[in-house]
Amino acid sequence: MAKRKSKKENSGNHKHEAKKKYGQNFLEDTELSDEILDVTEVNEETDVIEIGPGLGFLTEKLVESAKSLIAFEIDDDLIPVLMKKFGDKENFTLIHNDFMEIELEKYLLGKKDIKVVANIPYYITSPIINKLIEHRDKISEIYLMVQKEVAERIASKPHSKNMSLLTHAVQFYAEAEYLFTVPKEKFNPVPKVDSAFIGIKILKDKKYENQITEKEYFKYLKEAFSNKRKSVANNLMKLGLSKEEIGEALEKLGKTKLARTEEFSVQEFIDFIKLLKR
Ligand code: SAM
Repeated sequence: MAKRKSKKENSGNHKHEAKKKYGQNFLEDTELSDEILDVTEVNEETDVIEIGPGLGFLTEKLVESAKSLIAFEIDDDLIPVLMKKFGDKENFTLIHNDFMEIELEKYLLGKKDIKVVANIPYYITSPIINKLIEHRDKISEIYLMVQKEVAERIASKPHSKNMSLLTHAVQFYAEAEYLFTVPKEKFNPVPKVDSAFIGIKILKDKKYENQITEKEYFKYLKEAFSNKRKSVANNLMKLGLSKEEIGEALEKLGKTKLARTEEFSVQEFIDFIKLLKR
């Protein structure tokens, strides 16, 4: 995604060349880190997780404000830089590993209401979000810098063309909010696309999970989104349902027979499945 520039990032007393394979696009803008601290409301009572601290742009603010900060960084070259900057801070723990490989529960023991704040490597956005949501018993809020288009999909509202499987994969468990856009020029190297900062707040009351199992919800949803050009009815016929059955359910929901999956909110889709199963 990054447009490579030969410019090297100054990381203290040595220069770090950004690595494309690790999705490295570093931020350096004090106003932006202040804004992030502001919206995430991290304070001396907050346990925080950061994925990909890089050269420590966010880490610096987080370590100053949080009760504890555990940062996961994969790049060998960044470990000495981060240890030099933050190694003497008592509330800072650096884990030198691939975030996707670690057993996250080990690091969450004895904690609750953890916040995740990170400018993540975009090549693993969905796997990171899925992994964090799996630990929603301990993690309550997730704040991420992601590609702008991905942010629009995650925080999308029904009837938008941005409604997708990813929208539901987040909104089934959480409330998602598009917080602000970050122009690509704020990154070094400058990537091809703009970014956005999003907030994902886990639904404590599990209002959707209490109505249907995730297995069942996503069985229907995946089929419903399998061909974006087709109506929800045409897509769901593959599950052995007749057009008439689906049409009747749609009518009861106040939708037309030609309704598309993009129209549905999470609650509407749960109601739809329940009508189909009658
Ligand atoms: N947070 C820094 C900033 O805002 O300037 C760096 C952001 S950069 C987009 C992504 C960071 O994630 C890099 O430091 C990269 O080395 C790290 N990273 C990439 N893949 C990773 C993985 N699988 N596990 C942990 N860190 C990873």
